[in-house]
Amino acid sequence: MTDFSELGLSAPILGALTAEGYTAPTPIQTQAIPPVLAGRDLCGIAQTGTGKTAAFALPILQRLSAVPQRPAPHTCRALVLSPTRELASQIADSFRAYGAGLRLSTAVVFGGVPIGRQRAQLARGVDILVATPGRLLDLIDNRWLTLASVQVLVLDEADRMLDLGFIHALKRIVKLVPRQRQTLLFSATMPKTIATLAEDYLSNPVKVVVAPAATTVERVDQGVFLIPGDRKRDLLTGLLRDPAFTRVLVFTRTKHGADRVVRHLSTDGIEATAIHGNKSQPQRERALAGFRDGRPRVLVATDIAARGIDVDGVSHVINFDLPNVPEDYVHRIGRTARAGAAGIALAFCSDEERPYLRDIEKLTRCTIPRSPLPAALAAVRMAPAERPIAANPGRNGHPPSRPAFSNARSAPAQHSRGTSGANGRRGNPSATGALPAFLHRSAAARRMP
Ligand code: AMP
Repeated sequence: MTDFSELGLSAPILGALTAEGYTAPTPIQTQAIPPVLAGRDLCGIAQTGTGKTAAFALPILQRLSAVPQRPAPHTCRALVLSPTRELASQIADSFRAYGAGLRLSTAVVFGGVPIGRQRAQLARGVDILVATPGRLLDLIDNRWLTLASVQVLVLDEADRMLDLGFIHALKRIVKLVPRQRQTLLFSATMPKTIATLAEDYLSNPVKVVVAPAATTVERVDQGVFLIPGDRKRDLLTGLLRDPAFTRVLVFTRTKHGADRVVRHLSTDGIEATAIHGNKSQPQRERALAGFRDGRPRVLVATDIAARGIDVDGVSHVINFDLPNVPEDYVHRIGRTARAGAAGIALAFCSDEERPYLRDIEKLTRCTIPRSPLPAALAAVRMAPAERPIAANPGRNGHPPSRPAFSNARSAPAQHSRGTSGANGRRGNPSATGALPAFLHRSAAARRMP
């Protein structure tokens, strides 16, 4: 196994990694750090959770510290572009942590917060600037910053930046950065638009591909409940009464949907917070900090707000709504499989969402095991979409003889002990009844042939 010390990193950086508790580099770190240290451009196909931040942050820190040079006022030496503020904050935190033993300054700028402090930081000049595209251009247009001294440019989550409509901003920014520079581009996927960007912006890049979508998917134990939309709430409450759900990220498609889920949970006596675009930055940061500390243990998020959320130890991701963009499903469930850990992801799929489920299974090349509805819910109504057999044809077109979760890695289908919900509160009878052991740990989704 490769050791960080074999990658050519300096003692202060190795010390910071030890302090972070990192014992060995992840695959993208092993592959990316040496060429980036040598000054090469890099195109990395990797998603959040693979350790890609350190893969670019460590060599950048080392290269900048090798040339001790104070940044001139209103300039930065390295620029990292991120699609969201949460991700930008986390990247900046990582630079600070990994660079704790170095004399380099890091600043982060993004919209939604007062600009004054950001201007003051830039006025002094910074070594590393992490930014979202909109606020960065704002600062440039108002002459608080020039990109003329940028030596290293990182485009992180490039696919997401394009999804969020930052292509024009991105093109403007890249034009302002000197041609003579090192460029690193990271993207979870490589659609044509990104390939073109890479061709335009990178010079003879090293290409590193780790964890294609399906790999992350395979690390997560998945299940899908086929359930009418109006019963999702009861199912969610029932699941969350189980103490095994220690840190749970619930995804909804819309901001209103997220607020509604939080209200329902609160009515059912379960504390939860929402995080989405209508929340102010301080509100989002408070919600995230609380979630990291385990209070509340349930965070309800929309896709964009959740982008870049880096919270270790998420026990379950629940897709209350299925995303209509199948890649979002992969990003969502990746939240429960950080840095090699395995996690559990459950999806609620109504009749109307069946096409989304099909798209997800096509993208990930996995059949997501159908989780049988708990008795209390199954009895309510058996619409066609809820019939697990029809919904889950076996490999030869025959229905599976066992419920999908019974192919569990360790345990056959069995019932979890006391899935709390035995008696729902406020006259809400147990939505879940006894739940299968799957919900605590189960088989990975089967790969399609
Ligand atoms: P990233 O893909 O950069 O968002 O990183 C995902 C998570 O993995 C973060 O919580 C990092 O702190 C953590 N991480 C990154 N590299 C390592 C490593 N070599 N060993 C252990 N954890 C790591």
